[in-house]
Amino acid sequence: AVESPTAQDVNPAQILRNVRPKLLIDGDFVDAASGKTFPVLDPRTEDVIAQVAEADAADVDRAVGAARRAFDSGPWRKMSGRQRGRVLSRLADLLEERAEEFARIETLDNGKPLALSRGFDIPFVVSHFRYFAGWADKISGKTLQTNSNTFAYTLHEAVGVAAAIIPWNLPLLMMALKAAPALACGCTVVLKVAEQTPMSALLFGELALEAGVPPGVFNILPGYGPTAGAALVAHPGVDKVSFTGSTEVGREIMRGAADGVKHVSLELGGKSAAIVCPGVDLESVVEEAHDALFMNQGQACAAGSRTFVHESLYDEFVERAVERAQRATVGDPFGDVQLGPLVDSAQLEKVLGYMREGAAQAGAGYLCLVAEYSYLIYRLNGSLIGVATQGAVVRCGGSRIGSKGYYVEPTVFSDVRDEMSIAKEEIFGPVQSIMKWSSVEEVLDRANASPYGLGAGVWTKDLDLANRISRGLRVGTVWVNCYNQFDDAAPFGGYKMSGFGRDMSEYALQNFTEVKAVVTPLQDPAW
Ligand code: NAD
Repeated sequence: AVESPTAQDVNPAQILRNVRPKLLIDGDFVDAASGKTFPVLDPRTEDVIAQVAEADAADVDRAVGAARRAFDSGPWRKMSGRQRGRVLSRLADLLEERAEEFARIETLDNGKPLALSRGFDIPFVVSHFRYFAGWADKISGKTLQTNSNTFAYTLHEAVGVAAAIIPWNLPLLMMALKAAPALACGCTVVLKVAEQTPMSALLFGELALEAGVPPGVFNILPGYGPTAGAALVAHPGVDKVSFTGSTEVGREIMRGAADGVKHVSLELGGKSAAIVCPGVDLESVVEEAHDALFMNQGQACAAGSRTFVHESLYDEFVERAVERAQRATVGDPFGDVQLGPLVDSAQLEKVLGYMREGAAQAGAGYLCLVAEYSYLIYRLNGSLIGVATQGAVVRCGGSRIGSKGYYVEPTVFSDVRDEMSIAKEEIFGPVQSIMKWSSVEEVLDRANASPYGLGAGVWTKDLDLANRISRGLRVGTVWVNCYNQFDDAAPFGGYKMSGFGRDMSEYALQNFTEVKAVVTPLQDPAW
């Protein structure tokens, strides 16, 4: 059920009426020093919806200077935690009051269904600021039991100026995952938003000032990675870099931060396993495994993009998964659809490339017709059963929809083997790869063979099996009998090449604090 992706009666200028497309530095919305701007597109139509000031090294210098002054001598760090918490709480309230406006901006800028912006992204940002507002006055060290007749304790102090560099898939939420804990800890922030999706954070910057975040404490730089992003990472005034994005850029961030020996935390890519065990209720599990992958058009770092299904259920699971994907509605994200367009043309090309890739041999006994990069596979009786890619079979989808806007069909591959690129590499699109497994040792080994280790899901009615698989997986989050259940209080981050450090939860405070030990002799040993 593919809806025609024609734009509905949506007025971008009206949606963006309150957004100032500039840089936010030291409490003012300003042009780039160079005067340059860059275009932001509507992924539904490919039309330019805004020209936004483009930061480069000179602007990074201004913004970091402002954040440095605000940290070193400004009121934010010296404010009591209780007071900082009150400001962050107010900020959450202001956002909640304007949630609909923000949801529309997010959908216009990113292309995600409005229902998702309304039901997930924006409410999560509100609750995240509330959650960290609650932490602001509970960030405490310890009193230590020493062996040296001394009184010793630790202080958990703000790390300083925190640079946050974020991707486009969850624009405002990624901002929140960095800014909420950083501000709660008393840091000042320079945020480099993704060049594809700068709009919602800019409006949020206005709310931060309105809520009482002092000038210079929260600065925003729209701009490109190799220019603004790299300059920010290397700037000597930055103490900490918190990054979410691809593993490739994560490596660049580490290199850029090395000279200054800066604190770094990285939330990177993933190729998460969704493991379906024998004996589960297929109706609900097919649905959950579908959502695990197709949510946000598959543009989610934790997307369950390797669906491992036990051999006892495999054929039926594939049939049902295909039927479910074919039912998924694709279209204008302001309408009643499950999938909107991908974010931009680069992402579209990348996803279509994976869909086509490889085209190796189809199975024996089939007649294969080579079409572009793929093989159409016919049974010998002439009925088309699918399109082979590297030997896997495209059961549905596999193509772009229309020629305007970045829409693609929800795609399901069966018979996927671990060595195929669609099973190994992060596609970041609506492509479900379904593999078969037979023993628990085998599926654990195969799931762990990925260089990534971000998330995983396991569906089973067997508690022992759930425990065994949860502990056997080398990933930062395991969802048991569910997927994509995020919570402010649950840490999120990766093992292996999915990064290090944890966003969300109490653990995120560690990203933005230094630990100082204070030791003083005791006069009276008896004490
Ligand atoms: P990306 O790595 O291309 O870009 C992320 C950000 O880094 C952008 O703001 C970009 O401008 C900036 N950047 C690019 N080059 C840079 C450089 N040399 N120096 C400094 N900054 C630079 O990623 P993307 O395409 O925007 O997002 C998709 C990726 O993000 C996927 O790999 C996905 O898995 C990952 N992601 C991870 C998580 C997580 O929590 N682990 C969450 C969302 C997305």
